[in-house]
Amino acid sequence: MINQILIVQVILDHYHEKLDHLFDYMVPRQFQSHITAGMRVLVPFGKSNRMLEAFVMETAEIQETTHPLKEIHQILDEQPVLSAEQLQMVRWMTKAYFCRSIEAIRCFVPSHRAGQKKKTMVQLAGSPSDGLTQAQGLTGAPVQQRILCCLADSPKMPLKKLMDTAGAGRSSVMALAKKGYVIIQEESDRRDPLATLQRIDYPEPTLSQEQALVIEDIHRHWKHKPSQEVLLHGITGSGKTEVYMQLIKETLSNNRDSIMLVPEISLTPQMVQRFRGRFGDQVAVLHSHLSEGERLDEWHRIRSGEARIIIGPRSAIFAPCRDLGMIIIDEEHESTYKSEQSPRYHAHEIALLRSRLEKAQLVLGSATPSVEVYHRALHHEMKLVQLKERATGGFLPEVTIVDLRDEVRHGNCTLFSKPLVDSLRDCLGQGHQAILLLNRRAFATYVNCLHCGHVIQCEHCDITMKWHKKEKVLKCHYCGTQHATPEHCPECERPLAYQGAGTQRAEETLKSLFPENTIMRMDQDATRLKGSHQAILEQFATKSVDILIGTQMIAKGLDFPNVTLVGILLADTSLNLPDFRASERTFQLITQVAGRAGRGAAAGKVVLQTYQPEHYAVDLAAHQDYERFYHLEIQLRSQFHYPPFTRLMQVTFTGPDERQVGETAVKIARGMAYMLEEHHYSSIKDIVLEPGPALVNKVENRYRYTLLLKTAGVSFSFLKKMVKYLLVDKKEQQIPAEMTVVIDPDPRFIQ
Ligand code: ADP
Ligand code: ZN
Repeated sequence: MINQILIVQVILDHYHEKLDHLFDYMVPRQFQSHITAGMRVLVPFGKSNRMLEAFVMETAEIQETTHPLKEIHQILDEQPVLSAEQLQMVRWMTKAYFCRSIEAIRCFVPSHRAGQKKKTMVQLAGSPSDGLTQAQGLTGAPVQQRILCCLADSPKMPLKKLMDTAGAGRSSVMALAKKGYVIIQEESDRRDPLATLQRIDYPEPTLSQEQALVIEDIHRHWKHKPSQEVLLHGITGSGKTEVYMQLIKETLSNNRDSIMLVPEISLTPQMVQRFRGRFGDQVAVLHSHLSEGERLDEWHRIRSGEARIIIGPRSAIFAPCRDLGMIIIDEEHESTYKSEQSPRYHAHEIALLRSRLEKAQLVLGSATPSVEVYHRALHHEMKLVQLKERATGGFLPEVTIVDLRDEVRHGNCTLFSKPLVDSLRDCLGQGHQAILLLNRRAFATYVNCLHCGHVIQCEHCDITMKWHKKEKVLKCHYCGTQHATPEHCPECERPLAYQGAGTQRAEETLKSLFPENTIMRMDQDATRLKGSHQAILEQFATKSVDILIGTQMIAKGLDFPNVTLVGILLADTSLNLPDFRASERTFQLITQVAGRAGRGAAAGKVVLQTYQPEHYAVDLAAHQDYERFYHLEIQLRSQFHYPPFTRLMQVTFTGPDERQVGETAVKIARGMAYMLEEHHYSSIKDIVLEPGPALVNKVENRYRYTLLLKTAGVSFSFLKKMVKYLLVDKKEQQIPAEMTVVIDPDPRFIQ
């Protein structure tokens, strides 16, 4: 008989590009019976045989080896940390997103460095009354008596706490254990990320008729097409969360797990609080602000089935559920669902894949669905259900548009028009609260010289510096460079003007207009510290703050019934970006923030200030007319060959030498044009190649060029093949070593 040799193919836990392939190792006899794909192992690597962690992707039996193989040193897991489905997804992700295997694996498996913390628990062996009887028998040992009495009160306690409460030493507890009166056990000491979250009860309301019908509709749909997605299109305040909770409750009763994605978890403590209030400790959270230990503990809790409902931002889509039954993506249209780091995945795409592999159901929800998703729903690729009324019975707020050009004509150059100030007075006078949106942080947008026109720019980046008044500094929002504010123009030495307006300046103006009221600001600068979002929102909830002013952070998901006025200081901030999604984003932002008003008993009002009242995104958002907006927008997408009619891919080249970067981009574009012609495509008609400097052309002294690829006549898979050939397989020949290339197969922001 020929001797079979058992080998494993592993991916090393190392990010170096050159190590991104499978390595073969032999499996020594003592490990052969229990090693399987998906386990972590320790392997010797390199000349020095340094030990590295690695993931087993496959096991194989071979007859002989062409070269001597090293042996694995140790197996680190009893059970695989990656299931067969997850291994399949890892392989898929490396191809779809041009990422390294280890980057895809790390989405699923957190670092195990923090280990599991243990604590010693002491428990009565019998019932509390047994304990008391035993205590009576121990007349000569008063300390042991005290211990038993403590435990009779609370039958299971951490050893430390028990010793403190009973005033006892360890030896007395051990003596009781020897007698068989108490049991001592090690238990995992969980690091709970929600430990500081205030616990509330969130009882189930009676569903509104609309909610009940929607749920029925969803069930009927899944009876026929169990694998098809559902889009829940519900106006702001229509009670989508309650629909999600019902679906999750049913999933739970079938003994299956649910994942609920939210755009950004630190902005939605209310959502987490409600889920905890309804489902208790079965809720786990996963997000990037967790400590390594918290993340690992939550991961174990999910794997063991102790936590069955996972809430988190896009990365929570990788939660290690044992039996995934339901995935919900709330505020589906948000751009945060797309990762801007490798792997550059979109949570919706991963959710689709997971739902198919694991037979889970997928629900997307939004008041302003993305144009791509709504297009699919209208073309019956997913089921559309709608909520058209507010759950609490109120109406959508009335919107007043203020043309800022009129204000300027009347000599008012601030961002506070007369109608807005009047409405604020009214709202505060009635004891209500207001939310003001200005999607631009800092004080002045930029600093320029009114005489020579010089604008102060970052010396490392191609972008203007922003003035932060409180700290009295100029900051670059790209690289973080900051320096003191100059008083005179560095070019002509005349005094400088501080132009534009951000949240800080608006806050200051507001304080002078309403000196009696409390005002709070919420933006990236005000929320640097962990937990600061929560603190600001809690203060606002207790009504100790009258006006909350902030960037888009305040637009999402907040539900405060006492807010009756929303002011949008400048609706056009996002409108003029060179991005084909600029109108869509503006429409979504206005609708979302307007939806914060009038969620309680009193009617809501919105004052929308703009320089472009005639723009369709502004006008239709003011009229809360999603349907008309969609139909206008989809025509433009079709006309200009944008998604959903085409797919985009963006390649970004960066390097220290601008000429080299530009020439490389052009060379690659030519290479693609050549390949297209070889396959009888036309590079102009079938694929649009647009090499050119990026919108922000220089960051941290490195120049950036982008190549935008748009499929018109070719398939996306052909495009991917071409990009892989030129920029992955032939990378070393094509790209100078000092340059980097980033391939984004689904760019959300075109630059
Ligand atoms: P959405 O996510 O659709 O904007 P929410 O889920 O935040 O809306 O619900 C808006 C408000 O309506 C919340 O305060 C919620 O508690 C309340 N609500 C939802 N469903 C019901 C119901 N069936 N009965 C009473 N109140 C409800
Ligand atoms: Zn900079």
